[in-house]
Amino acid sequence: MSEMKVFRKLDALRAFRRENRDGHWGLVPTMGFLHPGHLELVRRARADHPREDGGRVAVSLFVNPTQFGEPEDLAHYPRALERDLQLLEEAGVDLVFCPSDEDMYPPGFQTYVHLEHVTQPLEGASRPTHFRGVATVLAKLFNLVQPDRAYFGQKDAQQTVVVRRLVKDLDFDLEVVVCPTVREADGLAMSSRNARLSEPQRAAAPVLFRTLQIARQALEEGERDGDLLRQRMRQEIRSEPLAELDYVSVADPDTLLELPVIGTSALLSLAVSFGAVRLIDNLPIDDLKPINSEPIAE
Ligand code: AMP
Repeated sequence: MSEMKVFRKLDALRAFRRENRDGHWGLVPTMGFLHPGHLELVRRARADHPREDGGRVAVSLFVNPTQFGEPEDLAHYPRALERDLQLLEEAGVDLVFCPSDEDMYPPGFQTYVHLEHVTQPLEGASRPTHFRGVATVLAKLFNLVQPDRAYFGQKDAQQTVVVRRLVKDLDFDLEVVVCPTVREADGLAMSSRNARLSEPQRAAAPVLFRTLQIARQALEEGERDGDLLRQRMRQEIRSEPLAELDYVSVADPDTLLELPVIGTSALLSLAVSFGAVRLIDNLPIDDLKPINSEPIAE
């Protein structure tokens, strides 16, 4: 197995990339504290970029300060660099980039990438500078690593919409690949933040996925009224005493605007806090039957 290269410095990474122009590169941007959800993106990137074809897989581990609103949340974000490096080596990654905050944002830094409409609802409403930080760090990572493909999880649905838009609008020459959400056995979407849940909070957390499934089932049974679906979702979250609701949404998957009436597709999403830990989840729904179609015979 060829050795995994670890770069902490931007200049060293750029120099290596200049000397290694051949083959296609896949990039998996992460904030580290890796779990099987991240490793699934890595596996997919490796499969798409086989070594025998000169393919390379790069992973970034960087807890990006500009995408955190509350300094508290940033300070408590879990980290485990040595363990992450070991997992990535085992996963057959070629290159890891783990820069310092000071190198990514040196004194005098003042250029941010701002997307307009798609960053405003959902996560953007609760975290107004979050996507500015996400778009800025991704633009920097794309420039530094110059990947042919970049891999993202459906888990962060709005982020996938933002990154597609960013790549299109700023002409990044790469393909965005979105991979399905990896879940625990009880349906909880894997997240580095889950490690911060207390035992009772962890036991209550599957309420997110349960709520999404209830809404999906209602849609499948023919409910098309957005307000009623959102109301049903709120009701389910409120039935869980440890859960504090931030938002529920039944939105257009492209514009992310709330749908009054659902047609053939929708993005169901929600954000819920358990104490200081804020969790998000979503379920993309497509190919719903048009409203007036005949019910399927059993
Ligand atoms: P993060 O480290 O949370 O910034 O996540 C890095 C990447 O992994 C993002 O594209 C996430 O959407 C993705 N990701 C995180 N959790 C999951 C999961 N449970 N399933 C699939 N992808 C995930």
